[in-house]
Amino acid sequence: MLGLPTMDGPIGGAIREDTALARARALLKEVPLLDGHNDLPWVIRSDPQARGDVRLYDLNRVHERGDTDIPRLREGMVGGQFWAAFQPTNAAHPARTTLEQIDVIRRTEEAYPETFYPARSASDLARAKRAGKIASFIAVEGGVGLEESLAPLRIWQAAGVRMMTLCHNESLAWVDSATDAPRAKGLSAFGRAVIGELNRLGIVVDCAHVSHEAIRQALDVSVAPIALSHSNAFALCDHPRNAPDDVLTRLKHNGGIIMATFVPGFISQPLRDYLAGSRDKYGKAPAGVDPKAALAALEAQRGPAPRATLEELADHIVYLVETAGVDHVGIGSDFFGGPQPLGLESVARFPYLFAELIRRGFAKRALAKIASGNFLRVLRAVERIGKGLRQEASPRLGRSEDFPEE
Ligand SMILES: [Zn+2]
Repeated sequence: MLGLPTMDGPIGGAIREDTALARARALLKEVPLLDGHNDLPWVIRSDPQARGDVRLYDLNRVHERGDTDIPRLREGMVGGQFWAAFQPTNAAHPARTTLEQIDVIRRTEEAYPETFYPARSASDLARAKRAGKIASFIAVEGGVGLEESLAPLRIWQAAGVRMMTLCHNESLAWVDSATDAPRAKGLSAFGRAVIGELNRLGIVVDCAHVSHEAIRQALDVSVAPIALSHSNAFALCDHPRNAPDDVLTRLKHNGGIIMATFVPGFISQPLRDYLAGSRDKYGKAPAGVDPKAALAALEAQRGPAPRATLEELADHIVYLVETAGVDHVGIGSDFFGGPQPLGLESVARFPYLFAELIRRGFAKRALAKIASGNFLRVLRAVERIGKGLRQEASPRLGRSEDFPEE
């Protein structure tokens, strides 16, 4: 057998592969992995059969066409998950839809009590681990559901929301998206009030999807650490969704975190270059053009599009650690039932990413920080600062019209 090639290369290479994977699994057994972003709740809502019925969707079976279910969360050693209460910006009835998606997450916790531990504070990650469960955290993705009022923030907090992504792929009147024309010159006065109230409520301000200028302003305004829950390094892939170096450097002083994401278009510069002619300057297919059809036309003309890979994502993590510091990097997969990079096809694959980081020379201490230590520090700081602010400051009242620009 000696010297015979295997799928992983020569046998020596295959053995090293197994060693790294075994070490990754041993690490994740000890230190829970907390993933910053997963869109399963929208998948459950959109599923033509389940239509939001969590039990009907049946998370106990492997969903071959999807990427997230209980068997593969267990296989992937996920210790905690932020589920996104997401909706497209143009969804009808945004306030109602946000509540419906928070409800999907809470019903998921209730339907699988032997699997999910409803997590409402940083210390719940360890509690879930002791109970042999996956900590289930709730995030709202997209401030469109506020309908320009501050009151929903307090209701979301009461419902268990602990992180809020300010916007999605479209700018709102009060916050600019990374992938749309600006409307607010970054953040409007109301946008700054949203951040103030999130700080007071102990909810993490998430600047994934937010324009570079709006992230800089959020860093100016927030008195608590911020997160970029699913973004990569702009220096390695110049998609506007990725964070530029000055933002990464400022995360050190802010105490915040960037959580590396598996979205192929935010990983691979060759893929971005390939798509360049078919996308607008914000990386989106022009209005009225179906991105899937546009890609199919491009592939018919120029051959298959480059695939992003697990190894390229590891390059981003190395760069983020070098630039933001090892205390400011985490993982935010953004699994959503769509195409994923080679090697990261489902939630079962997290140990393979950690195995690659082990091969890149990361020490156990650094990997433990990336797995969950850094995010826990952020969440604890957000909780502590919120508690202090609630003692000294009253809830902020009002709607956007109550916050005129100075
Ligand atoms: Zn997103």
